[in-house]
Amino acid sequence: MLKVLQNLLELQGVDVRLSQVRARLAQFPKKLAEVDARVSAARAALDQSKAAQVTAIKDRKKYELDVEQWKERVRKYKDQTAQIKTNEAYKALLHEIQLAEQEISRAEDRLLEEMVANEEYDRQVKAAEAALKATDEVARRERAGIEAEKAAQEKDLAALTAERARVVAEIPEDTLDHYERIARKHDGKALAEVVGEKCSACGMVVRPHVFQQMQHAGPPAGEAGSEEMFHCETCTRILYYIEPEEPPMPPRTAGGSAPESAAQPPSAAEN
Ligand SMILES: [Zn+2]
Repeated sequence: MLKVLQNLLELQGVDVRLSQVRARLAQFPKKLAEVDARVSAARAALDQSKAAQVTAIKDRKKYELDVEQWKERVRKYKDQTAQIKTNEAYKALLHEIQLAEQEISRAEDRLLEEMVANEEYDRQVKAAEAALKATDEVARRERAGIEAEKAAQEKDLAALTAERARVVAEIPEDTLDHYERIARKHDGKALAEVVGEKCSACGMVVRPHVFQQMQHAGPPAGEAGSEEMFHCETCTRILYYIEPEEPPMPPRTAGGSAPESAAQPPSAAEN
């Protein structure tokens, strides 16, 4: 295999790993936001329970006051009975007292209901507080895990960036431009292995004379440029061919199932 192809293949390997690391790094803000959203939801649930509790306490006080007011009215009516002169007026007052006592009973029922509801709201607030505490603890652990993972990915990114610089230094500038132009069109993969005399990326059959030349391409005397490389006529990817180590091998099936970046020792392809 041409030395320049070996370098490009190495570069493609680095670039594939770089894009994987970048994709993983891009996930971290979303992951952190998801953790924060869970904590926010738990806090909102607690706020809601507390608001309901406050309303219930107000209602309870109001009903307590209702009971007191009706009781006060009954007391007043009873005080008035001593001053009543006529039987008629007495009957009317007794009727008023009866009505007021019914109101007391109704107000007491409402108050009792509200006290039961109050207890339920108290329970809900406690449950929401416990849920928030638990969510907070889980979130703290999750954030720490995400941050550690992110730091590891950033370390990988730095290492791969340095490795890329080292690999790129071996490749002529115009060849690199050529590679990058093709890579941009094909999801970062500019090279395709020829397997079973076909481009393994798109399945196009390589012309026999091209394939023959590829098989006999030895390391060039000088610096090899892009003009010495073969391209797939259909997808334009740069083609490379790895000589099988043992010549009498059954032909590989033309399914193109071999991965594009199947790494093989470069020595296997050198003449
Ligand atoms: Zn192709």
